[in-house]
Amino acid sequence: MSTSDKICTNSCKNSDDASDVIGKLEKMSTVDNEVNNTSVCANCGKEGDSVNNVCNQCKQVKYCNAVCKKVHKKKHKKDCEEHVRRVAEKHNEELRIAAKLHDIELFKEPPSQFGDCPICFLRLPFRNTGRAYFSCCGKMICSGCSWAPVYDNQGNEVDNKKCAFCRTPDPESYEEIMKRHEKRVDADDPIAIYTKGNYYKDGRNGYPQDYAKALELFHRSAELGCSEAYTSIGYVYLYGEGVEVDKKKARHYWELAAIGGDASARHNLGINEGETGNVERALKHWMIAVRGGESESLKQIKVLYSNGHATKGDYTTALQLYQEYLGEIKSPQRDEAAAADERNRYY
Ligand SMILES: [Zn+2]
Ligand SMILES: [Zn+2]
Ligand SMILES: [Zn+2]
Ligand SMILES: [Zn+2]
Repeated sequence: MSTSDKICTNSCKNSDDASDVIGKLEKMSTVDNEVNNTSVCANCGKEGDSVNNVCNQCKQVKYCNAVCKKVHKKKHKKDCEEHVRRVAEKHNEELRIAAKLHDIELFKEPPSQFGDCPICFLRLPFRNTGRAYFSCCGKMICSGCSWAPVYDNQGNEVDNKKCAFCRTPDPESYEEIMKRHEKRVDADDPIAIYTKGNYYKDGRNGYPQDYAKALELFHRSAELGCSEAYTSIGYVYLYGEGVEVDKKKARHYWELAAIGGDASARHNLGINEGETGNVERALKHWMIAVRGGESESLKQIKVLYSNGHATKGDYTTALQLYQEYLGEIKSPQRDEAAAADERNRYY
């Protein structure tokens, strides 16, 4: 069985759980939903709109007045308590189901974070020096393809100052760079919007520091599919950049990022779980992050193994997952680019 099968087994098991909990939810919606619309005094039987003194505890019975309510109190007590207990139980069960559904979503195999290079069709590396974004065409291109020499028809190496994908000449001025960038922002390109958000966050490239604008752009980018933008929103709340520090919100946005495939956000979630002693959940996050190329998570699993919190089998699985990831991203062209220049390192 390959390791990706292992992940699949997990998510398949999860989908069984999903139908199980959905079934439970359906059943529950028929329980305890009878609402008494006719106004009849539970004590004297009087009917009408004036019967509107509701039991404060269960809110299930009505009385014509406070006297009837008081008289009926003893008789009603058992039913009242029973109803309150059932409502609380139902509420707890709903919370458990919501948490379970959330976990199914959170721990299912995420999509590849950056997709494939549009030139060599190999998976784009997690490491940011292994890929670059081109604002001429809005493509993310691997270090191998952007570095590779270009030859003319006679086989002579030609000047390579063009986008490897669309052959647009590289921008010659700072103004040209920013102009192209803005054009991509106008075209709703999530990466361009995310980048602009970072300019505002840091106050650079001619943009004033503006946390509110940065956050707004991060949201826009994230909603257009850039999971890294959700990770950044998480950091905004972690550090309180223009907002109140809110660790719960940070975690919420990292979860959205992780579901979208962001391996570094998932690594952070693993750290959070580890800090609160949930080693099992930490391990689950780190396994998925390792498959996405996050080598820091592999280090954490090694630590867990060395202090007895993970088994040798866990560590072996993690190493296999990382090898699988490397198998998808490695190429001779990328190796050559990395050998020629440290700035092209891709894992
Ligand atoms: Zn009455
Ligand atoms: Zn009651
Ligand atoms: Zn490529
Ligand atoms: Zn291009």
